[in-house]
Amino acid sequence: MDSSEIVKKATEAGVQLIFFLYCDNGGIIRGKSTHVSSLAKRLETGIGLTRAMQAMSDMDRLQTVAGMGPVGEIRLVPDLETFTVLPYAPKRAVMLADMVALDRVPWGACPRGFLKRMVARAAARGLRFQAAFEPEWTLARKEGASFVPCDQSLCFSTIGANTVLPVIDDIVATLGAQGLQVEQYYAELGHGQQELSVRFADALRAADNHVLYRETVRNVAWQHGFYASFAPKPFADQAGNGCHIHFSVWDAAGERNLFYDRQDAYSLSQTGYSFIAGVLEHLSALVALTCPSVNSYRRLQPRSWSSAFTCYGPDNREAALRIPSLFWGDEEASVNLELKPSDSSANPYIALGGLIAAGLDGVETELLPKKNHLVDVDPATLTLEELEQQGIQRLPANLAEAIGALERDEVLTEALGSDLARSYLAIRRGDLELFSTRDEAFELDHHFYKY
Ligand code: GLU
Ligand code: MG
Repeated sequence: MDSSEIVKKATEAGVQLIFFLYCDNGGIIRGKSTHVSSLAKRLETGIGLTRAMQAMSDMDRLQTVAGMGPVGEIRLVPDLETFTVLPYAPKRAVMLADMVALDRVPWGACPRGFLKRMVARAAARGLRFQAAFEPEWTLARKEGASFVPCDQSLCFSTIGANTVLPVIDDIVATLGAQGLQVEQYYAELGHGQQELSVRFADALRAADNHVLYRETVRNVAWQHGFYASFAPKPFADQAGNGCHIHFSVWDAAGERNLFYDRQDAYSLSQTGYSFIAGVLEHLSALVALTCPSVNSYRRLQPRSWSSAFTCYGPDNREAALRIPSLFWGDEEASVNLELKPSDSSANPYIALGGLIAAGLDGVETELLPKKNHLVDVDPATLTLEELEQQGIQRLPANLAEAIGALERDEVLTEALGSDLARSYLAIRRGDLELFSTRDEAFELDHHFYKY
């Protein structure tokens, strides 16, 4: 779509405000809007944003990052392909924006720019990365000052699915109207917990979709009187909300799944195994990008189906990387890997960019996973000696450990680039410092309705 088509579409639809959205280093979706009367101009000039916003924590506390203080601007420049009239707020539209420096080059601290760079790096090797986020979230109501789950239903229970039928059906329709193809829905294990997945797409589109998804679920739920929480662990005594990432690598034309090898026991190619090896090699650091909040580590515990150890396994829901069994009749297309230690407090651009960087490192160095890293039992049942013998590690038990691992990981920090790495780490350190002085109730409360 070109600019004039967008203006025409917005005008015809009766849109008043068009928000240029971005997801920041703290995983928060933020944006600024233009009135439709200025849209044509704003599509060219972007909207100004202080550079400080990439140093702003998810508690809106400005962290000290050189070049990201009160002085200096960038522009939010929307991607024309992402223009979307919001079915749940028809006088509004959104566009996903890139952060562009005043000299018109991509700004180094732009998360969407980071993912674009990683997509281009993969493309230079003839690899096209496809992904789907698989979000879980919790529907709750507010009673007084407390959030309360909307039901006490059981895993996959139809009572759970039916109690909230109007809101779910509205969300499904609303996602569909934005071009997000819903794949599956069910009430999940925790009280009020839902899982609703959408179809995979090219990496950039998948990350854009996840931003639209979070916006849609939160807003439609709100219109029905519910709070939708994407917090990794909204209630300490209930199942956590994962956002597993399913991914595969295709040839440039998108015709051949390069993870597929019919001869292999799990139908996985050498490229697939190298991707596994790269991800496992960098996993302790990668989780600082995919499980980035203090609250993330309340979820990432053994025996929680969220994964807690650096291993992989066929249909193993306690392994960090699962090789899912294939769909009957759709074997080649369905070969994919699932990263379990990932949640919706992550910035989807940074999470996917980091995943690609880690996997590509495995491909570029022709790494293969260690034999002992394939686990077909719950790794929590292995003794400490067995884990050590097999070279399997516990994932970071808290954000401090994850940040430390990221700081030491040159592959990931170099991929992020200096501006993004420094600002990202500063935000995470700021969170650590703040939450380490507060109690569990404060942590749960301040993560509940943020993502
Ligand atoms: N709720 C689990 C998690 O935190 C995932 C359950 C499942 O779908 O396997 O990742
Ligand atoms: Mg699930």
